[in-house]
Amino acid sequence: MTEDMGKFKCKSCSKEMENEIFVLNMWVCPYCNYHHSINAGDRLRITVDENSFVEIGKNIDSIDFLNFYDTRAYSTRLKEAKLKTGMDEAIMVGEAKIEGIDVAIGIMNFGFMGGSMGSVVGEKIKILSDCSIEKKIPLVVFCASGGARMQEGAISLMQMAKTVSCINRVKENRIPYISVITNPTSGGVSASFATLADIIIAEPNSLFCFAGPRVIKQTIKKNPPSDFGSAERNLINGQIDMIVNRSDLKKILTSILELFR
Ligand SMILES: [Zn+2]
Repeated sequence: MTEDMGKFKCKSCSKEMENEIFVLNMWVCPYCNYHHSINAGDRLRITVDENSFVEIGKNIDSIDFLNFYDTRAYSTRLKEAKLKTGMDEAIMVGEAKIEGIDVAIGIMNFGFMGGSMGSVVGEKIKILSDCSIEKKIPLVVFCASGGARMQEGAISLMQMAKTVSCINRVKENRIPYISVITNPTSGGVSASFATLADIIIAEPNSLFCFAGPRVIKQTIKKNPPSDFGSAERNLINGQIDMIVNRSDLKKILTSILELFR
């Protein structure tokens, strides 16, 4: 997606469109239906009732406990990600209403260090799942992640076990959990809370896998199938329950939430 004089060029079909039309169409290409990635703030606006979101678990900061440095320091990367996204971490969590129905909602932002899961993402999932249990309201999580945050080493891997046990508690309390897979969702998030929902919805053309096609290719020295990890292939294989266009997502979520009510 490139911006040029108020126009957007679709990443998939390369057709150009007015910026305004693209936004009105919820960042979905009107020509080929390619669902472009959106940030957590925009996702929130098109999903929950206006002014209904109350953020919880704010002001929890990641700590660079390993003094991790690759090409840049982890602490610098964190500062940059905060400035770029206006978020304090790769997920925001809170309570909101969807067509008047109370939900505990989490929205990941791929723009924040690739939506990577470190100790704070794990803790926010914990706070969110506790909230859904305490208030007896359904849990809804929009996933977008490249996996564990390598800058936090083994601590980031531990978040898989932590979030799985959080979701197990939600299930023990018979609270419905819906996860929405958005492009891309992979690694430790795929291998933990993203896949444990009662109902797994994916947006069209979203990549949903553990290891991505590039890693598979490097490992087996062969090209994986062109639809490897796609929502469409995952639906055929039974890994997800349905594929829903972004424009229908609020309506479908509402009807599922009404069933549970
Ligand atoms: Zn297109």
